[in-house]
Amino acid sequence: MSGYQSGEQPQAGKFIKLNTNENPYPASPAVAVAIRAALDQGLEKYPDAMATSFRVRAGEVLGVDPDWILCGNGSDDILTILTRTFVGENDLLRLPFPSYILYRTLAEIQSARFEEVRFDENWKLSAAFSANVDRLRLAYLPNPNSPSGTVLSPQEVQEIADRLPCPLLIDEAYVDFAEQTCLELVRQNPHVMVSRTLSKSYALAGLRFGFLVAQPELIQQLLKVKDSYNCDTLSIAGATAAIDDQAWVRENRTKVIATRVRLATALEKLGFSVVPSQANFVWCTHAAQPVQPLYEALKRDRILIRYMNYQGWGEGLRISVGTDDQVDACLSRLASAM
Ligand SMILES: *Cc1c(COP(=O)(O)O)cnc(C)c1O
Repeated sequence: MSGYQSGEQPQAGKFIKLNTNENPYPASPAVAVAIRAALDQGLEKYPDAMATSFRVRAGEVLGVDPDWILCGNGSDDILTILTRTFVGENDLLRLPFPSYILYRTLAEIQSARFEEVRFDENWKLSAAFSANVDRLRLAYLPNPNSPSGTVLSPQEVQEIADRLPCPLLIDEAYVDFAEQTCLELVRQNPHVMVSRTLSKSYALAGLRFGFLVAQPELIQQLLKVKDSYNCDTLSIAGATAAIDDQAWVRENRTKVIATRVRLATALEKLGFSVVPSQANFVWCTHAAQPVQPLYEALKRDRILIRYMNYQGWGEGLRISVGTDDQVDACLSRLASAM
């Protein structure tokens, strides 16, 4: 197998990083305070295996009981736990295309098969996504999707969930930048799960913290599969402080969305087709010129964006929403490279 290729993470030199959908603003100041306090308590003891402080606070924010929440070392850990739980050798994992490439890799690690159902030209999914197929065990649906930033409405997702013969994970990594969430479906359907991450909308990609919301019977089964201490003392403390500061999230969301609108409008002026995004990035294609040289020109100037070429679909650029200054630098370099 080839293994998952994440976006470039240069560890030296100064880059404007608009390639992996990180938040350009610093996290809530409460996070560092909480981590320092936890450090003062010492790290000799194992962490709380259930990350109870986080689950209690997140439960209040989301309106669910703590036993509906499972915490992970990033939401990638949640995806790993789910794949290991449901998908065995030669079983089938369903995912949309194009979407988050990690899902395929997780199936391959299990010696399982994956089936990609293509989005149509409006980034909607046909009934093929909910069709019954032998040995179908799990379906992944990022919503908002990456790389497009598009969404299916809760109504559309509910129709998929009701027809699907297997559990459905709605990956809501970007939902804090969107208009609607599918969280309510978790209450209605024991096969529906929602995952969230603190990496994007809480500006904590370096902390590694994500979580799953599902009905308690399902969480009980997943606990058998997760590493005992999958979240560490410092990340639990930081994540609890982060989810506690919802005012910070609201303010950040407003700033990011305003810059997203500016970015999309400016890209259209440069002749790009831009898909309407409900995430902290935009996906754009260009009918008149190849976009890979643009990605390369920006990289030479230490501006990183994501060039994607999906086999059988086509190429495009995924540009994360940075600060206004970062986005302006990106746009002016793009304009001069075209
Ligand atoms: C970024 C991302 C994740 C992973 O988030 P982590 O919590 O940093 O592991 C999961 N799903 C999608 C669709 C993402 O874009």
